[in-house]
Amino acid sequence: MLGQMMTQPLLISSLIEHADRYHGQTEIISVETDGFVTETNWSQIAGNARKLASALTKLGLEPQDRIGTLAWNNRRHLEIYFATSGAGFVCHTINPRLFPEQLTYIINHAQDRVLFFDATFIPLVAALQEHLTEVRHFVLMGPRNDDAVSQIPGVQFFDDLIETGDAGFQWPSFDENTASSLCYTSGTTGNPKGVLYSHRSTVLHSFASNSRDVIGFSAMDVVMPVVPMFHVNAWGSPYACPMSGSRMILPGPDLHGEALVKLIDTYGVTLAMGVPTIWQGLLNYAASSGSKLASLQRTVIGGAACPPSMIETFRESYGVDTVHAWGMSEMSPLGTANHPLAKHRALPLEDQHKLRESQGRPCYGVELKIVDDDGNDLPHDGETQGDLMVRGHWVLDRYFLMQEQDILQDGWFATGDVATLDPDGYMTIRDRSKDIIKSGGEWISSVELENIAVAHPKLASAAVVGVPHPKWDERPLLVAVKAEGENPSEGELLAFFEGKIAKWQIPDKVVFIDALPLNATGKVLKRNLRADFNEILSG
Ligand code: ADP
Repeated sequence: MLGQMMTQPLLISSLIEHADRYHGQTEIISVETDGFVTETNWSQIAGNARKLASALTKLGLEPQDRIGTLAWNNRRHLEIYFATSGAGFVCHTINPRLFPEQLTYIINHAQDRVLFFDATFIPLVAALQEHLTEVRHFVLMGPRNDDAVSQIPGVQFFDDLIETGDAGFQWPSFDENTASSLCYTSGTTGNPKGVLYSHRSTVLHSFASNSRDVIGFSAMDVVMPVVPMFHVNAWGSPYACPMSGSRMILPGPDLHGEALVKLIDTYGVTLAMGVPTIWQGLLNYAASSGSKLASLQRTVIGGAACPPSMIETFRESYGVDTVHAWGMSEMSPLGTANHPLAKHRALPLEDQHKLRESQGRPCYGVELKIVDDDGNDLPHDGETQGDLMVRGHWVLDRYFLMQEQDILQDGWFATGDVATLDPDGYMTIRDRSKDIIKSGGEWISSVELENIAVAHPKLASAAVVGVPHPKWDERPLLVAVKAEGENPSEGELLAFFEGKIAKWQIPDKVVFIDALPLNATGKVLKRNLRADFNEILSG
């Protein structure tokens, strides 16, 4: 016997419809590419999304055609998110920080028919245009712009295009398993790979991220996603926020500490999300400007390991609760978030704080396990480390248009991370499997060493990589960037590790550089560091 309840497809259009109906006047603040701030609201975003959907349909596109974006976090980008997916096209957000050859590869591989881009990227699009063989419409996200006209033959303008749309456009209904959006991973090895999300996976991911022990956006929140809308859909916030009716502050291109602190203070941001490198800039500026980040209640930090010292600074200096979260493009991206359990209330405060340092536990909808090299399950004892495997409602099944399709192992996706899991499900990332340091048959976590190093007051940032060693195969090398006006010695930095980890795990050497090399998503390019310092311990 089947249940006798209504069945409605889980469609992205229903998210913006909900926000329009029940949170229509709730503001969306958008910093435009030229720095001007636009104030709009969910009703206007919804209205524009419908008109744009209609305009795109009139261009003669086929259902499921891919529509690319090269854009910052701003209101037109939000409108494109809903217009494309809602109308049955696929919203393909592209990371503009990738190399031009990678961008060409991705846009052609995805067969994007339309390419929307912000004014910042006029020169980039002009340079790529002749190679983008599949794109039929290049659309600048703004009003008419003579610069674009002179550089990009046939360029169209968002503000004109949208006027060709019909305000009475009705969202179509279709199978919830239909593809909705596409993101490529940054391709640290080989070509970037596409992850094709569905309406169903996106709506389920939004429900999950809206639960209290994940992110739990609220209609009372002023949310600032600093994580880009071109990288794993700003961790799903453009979908989860209309579901909850949150206000959104879209920060545009300037993600420096000063700009972010000003946005937080001006608009009363309560919840902000981003990677640790971004928050470092923000904390530096807050400290020097004297801002107390008074409105900020929570930060969600992920994408790379959040150093415990950062969690502590947010807590002790600003009264901000940090939710350390872990995920990846292949998981839409949320996998775990660090919130306490009821039983932890009885613990001394210091132990409670310690528990908040790990990447957290999986929410409903995601399952985790760790395995050894032969694929055997390993115990969840908080100590044994192994390859982290995942499955769930918003985890990919295969990559977009790729030949090798059997990427799962018995229905589990191998994340490429090495982790421990404790009996309550709290997961600690030890490393990416390619970054873990193998010294004399023992494993050393580069993440653990980095967490210690960045807490040193004389360092601005630091990375630890394994480099070849004649006796131990590999030994840890600390690559450090000095804080402004400071000049720490190698000896004092190495002494800082003493008593915090086993002696044999302490790095062999320190090298100082001016800035860490970062990839397109702001993560440290460790393979570059390994190449640069490959011989440093061999001699
Ligand atoms: P890419 O593979 O494109 O770099 P992702 O942004 O999807 O893209 O990165 C996912 C990876 O980032 C994870 O597999 C993990 O290695 C790392 N990561 C994400 N969040 C955390 C975290 N909180 N702590 C440690 N590593 C993290």
